[in-house]
Amino acid sequence: MHGRKDLPWQQNPTPYRVWVSEIMLQQTQVTTVIPYFERFMQRFEKIETLAAATQDEVLSLWTGLGYYARGRNLHRAAQIVVNEHHGKLPESLDALMALPGIGRSTAGAILSLGCGQAAPILDGNVKRVLCRYFCVDGWYGRSAVEKQLWALTTAMTPDKNTGKFNQAMMDLGATVCTRSSPDCTRCPLQKKCQAFQTGVPTDWPHKKPKKAKPVRETLMLLAVHNDLVLLQRRPPTGIWGGLWSFPQFDDLDSLHKFAGALGNYDKHSTEQWHLVKHSFTHFDLVITPVKIDLKRASGRRIMDADSVCWAGSELPGGCAAPVKRLLDKLTHTLL
Ligand code: SF4
Repeated sequence: MHGRKDLPWQQNPTPYRVWVSEIMLQQTQVTTVIPYFERFMQRFEKIETLAAATQDEVLSLWTGLGYYARGRNLHRAAQIVVNEHHGKLPESLDALMALPGIGRSTAGAILSLGCGQAAPILDGNVKRVLCRYFCVDGWYGRSAVEKQLWALTTAMTPDKNTGKFNQAMMDLGATVCTRSSPDCTRCPLQKKCQAFQTGVPTDWPHKKPKKAKPVRETLMLLAVHNDLVLLQRRPPTGIWGGLWSFPQFDDLDSLHKFAGALGNYDKHSTEQWHLVKHSFTHFDLVITPVKIDLKRASGRRIMDADSVCWAGSELPGGCAAPVKRLLDKLTHTLL
């Protein structure tokens, strides 16, 4: 017999002890939970003692375990159990799930491990094992994938010895089919495990898809006069801080207003180039380059030698990659 058998909640596994352990184990390592569980059980040996305690007392024993809503829900649920269920945890899935903080998997664990009933579970460890065993595609946080996993765990869970089966699945996930280094050579499921057959079992479960980055849009003015192009230095802080770029605008009106102050040009000969995309860590920038040809350039009104200049083949300083690409294209068209 393999698996973990000496965990404190596995000794005398009453529904109450299973419940407290399952709640503490959510998002928390077994080794961290053990001393908290033991202290908690020493102080609140029965549901009645927990229900009669103040929230402060409960939370002080939770200090350092994190996710304090778990402790508050446990306390509230204990009071409901005492007031509405004569101090005994209900033994049906629906009634358990009606208590604060008890989801379907926790209810399944209480029923199977604490009451000897045939109820499936689907905690993080079981999800990982199932995703690999059946090569379940998609991120398991998605409801369609979770539904599929519930169907699989329900179909696999035997009616007899359900507690032992569930414990074995949790142990397998925690000790053999671990997140980053599954030990397939000593796994009893290896023969039929689909992820093992692929040779890359860690490709499952699929990762949470990255959130699409926000998109910011800007217009860049490519003002050309003879073989010179207007550049503007970016403010010292923020993106491309201190680098030379094309003047940027939020809309065409402001762009033309600025361009008008530079000199005469024919609005109808304005060229709008293809969009240029550039990725920053936190957003994507979509640039619309707008080229104008100035017949006569003065633009003294907006000129400030330190931040605006007409540049030829020599650049006045550094510039960001997409600006450089646009400059190269511009130079090419001017040749
Ligand atoms: S064979 Fe490997 S990947 Fe498959 S369940 Fe076992 S440990 Fe996990």
